[in-house]
Amino acid sequence: MPTTASASASASGVAKKKTKKASAASDGGSGSATHEAVRGLLSKIPIADRKSVKIGDAHFDISQFVELHPGGAIDVEDGDDLTPRFLAAHGKDWGLLRRDEIVPVTKDGKTETGRKKEEEHHLANYGGKGGSWREIVGRHSWFLIHSIAAKFPEYPTEADRVAITGFITALGQLYPCKLCRKHLQQQLRDPELGPVAMDSRTDLTMWICKLHNIVNKDIGKPLFNCNPLELDLMYLKNCGECEVVKKGEKETDASAKSGFHPTSGPWDALLYLQDPLLLAAAKSSTDVFEIKRKVGLIEAAKKLRLPKKQIELLNKAIRGPGGKALASKLQKAIAKSSKVFKDEIKSDLAKLKKK
Ligand SMILES: Cc1cc2nc3c(=O)[nH]c(=O)nc-3n(C[C@H](O)[C@H](O)[C@H](O)COP(=O)(O)OP(=O)(O)OC[C@H]3O[C@@H](n4cnc5c(N)ncnc54)[C@H](O)[C@@H]3O)c2cc1C
Repeated sequence: MPTTASASASASGVAKKKTKKASAASDGGSGSATHEAVRGLLSKIPIADRKSVKIGDAHFDISQFVELHPGGAIDVEDGDDLTPRFLAAHGKDWGLLRRDEIVPVTKDGKTETGRKKEEEHHLANYGGKGGSWREIVGRHSWFLIHSIAAKFPEYPTEADRVAITGFITALGQLYPCKLCRKHLQQQLRDPELGPVAMDSRTDLTMWICKLHNIVNKDIGKPLFNCNPLELDLMYLKNCGECEVVKKGEKETDASAKSGFHPTSGPWDALLYLQDPLLLAAAKSSTDVFEIKRKVGLIEAAKKLRLPKKQIELLNKAIRGPGGKALASKLQKAIAKSSKVFKDEIKSDLAKLKKK
């Protein structure tokens, strides 16, 4: 298990190259020469005068950054806990801590350990080295699982929720190591873990961390310090080359990108889940909308226990030439049956409400 400082330090090492531009931008547009000069001056501050602060569960030397803070110089004392100030000013935008002038350090802040470790590419050392097939699959799987959580939307849609539930379900059902899968099925039932937390990106990263820790505990590995900052430093990586359209680039350049596949229509996770062939037939968002509406009507007809043969007939006809009129008719019929259903349980519902 990496210590807070080493994980942060090495994560920062990865981010170092990528933050060059952002750092240069923070000199207020006065040019990189000024920026370099200021950095040069600040780097001469003796170690004893450095400002080492706590943010979240990690520690940073920010003596080179206090004057460069884009909102004006910040007033801090060595040893301050800046967590409340950071959260109030930037929320959980932990990525802001990844810049040249903010150096992850150990708890005492005065050692150079953090600076040395900063140079390491922590991902190259992710997990143990080598090992059995079970360990290699495990390590790579965890990396993917944590990375998916790190990039999960802050405000997930229904499709995002369905997708992440499906992903975790697939692990429980299909994880390639039979023994691990058997254990995982029980770990996923653990009341302490609870159902997949997917109200936000942070909730999901913490939930996955908790799941990983349950596995760690069961196989006798050390537990990881689950906190959002630590997890983001480890797994929330930017990938410039993964951008679909970069700034100043034309959409038409898309075919030059690695792995380009010609576009044949929109993506819709929920429709794909219901029927991949129907999604493949949709050429536009309007098609997707119409197809989903028809699929929904057929599903409702199934729930009304129409005979299988009739369902098949309706399914075919609703996609044929008279499909639109048939869909309207079906919709009305389903609305009527819904009303009958509601009337039937009205009195029971009223009784339940009184209780
Ligand atoms: C779903 C699943 C179930 C598994 N079940 C079993 C099993 O039943 N029996 C078995 O022997 N092996 C199981 N494994 C494999 C096992 O979890 C390890 O992946 C494997 O033993 C290799 O261990 P490692 O030391 O490389 O670290 P890993 O556990 O693979 O972790 C990789 C790296 O992730 C980081 N990390 C550790 N814990 C956390 C955490 N909680 N949150 C975030 N990051 C963390 C650490 O930096 C660590 O080095 C399972 C793997 C998966 C994905």
